[in-house]
Amino acid sequence: MAVDHQKRGEFKLARYTGPLCRICRREGEKLFLKGDRCYTEKCAIDRRKYPPGQHGQGYRKLSDYGIQLREKQRVRKTYGLLERQFRRYFEEAERRKGITGEVLLQLLERRLDNIVYRMGFASNRRQARQFVNHGHFLVNGKKITLPTYEVKGGDVIEVAESGKNIHEITDSVVKAVHRGIPAWVEVDSENMRGKVLHIPSREEIQLPVKEQLIVELYSK
Ligand code: SF4
Repeated sequence: MAVDHQKRGEFKLARYTGPLCRICRREGEKLFLKGDRCYTEKCAIDRRKYPPGQHGQGYRKLSDYGIQLREKQRVRKTYGLLERQFRRYFEEAERRKGITGEVLLQLLERRLDNIVYRMGFASNRRQARQFVNHGHFLVNGKKITLPTYEVKGGDVIEVAESGKNIHEITDSVVKAVHRGIPAWVEVDSENMRGKVLHIPSREEIQLPVKEQLIVELYSK
């Protein structure tokens, strides 16, 4: 865990608890915050493609700054982070070798809660975070309760005994087949475990964002 903000206390901060679909509608894009519903015709953004509270009006034309800001918000909200946490990831990405925008996305993907979600053990990142907090996951045989834990290539993530009877976890494993599991992880759903084959490249992180805009925003 190289990132110094990986302290449990951060997760006791206030978090947005309003309607999740509203976040997607504000950003004008599906952020897949709810899980299964996001893949059905009930998805709010498919039904009402205009910002919340604007009664059918479209999205305003944005300035360059506005475009950069929206892109950052989209990524931040996709991973469910507070501004301060997101900013720290950016600063950490700047310190590491590589293209800052790509490293930023890789750091976000390497969070344990994200990996649990990507492997299909939770239907969304928020739920994954809760499961990790409650001690339902092991990394290389050791219980880890930090959603920010930085997973490495080769790590084995497994559902702890305490999680094997939680129906949201077992249900999600079954449904994950429809959502799709990325090629950079391998999942043994019968034994409720998965392995991170390697850290995903930018192409493998299927997130339709222009991360360079975030770099530009924070470099002002
Ligand atoms: Fe976003 Fe999912 Fe709600 Fe659609 S259903 S608006 S993707 S949270």
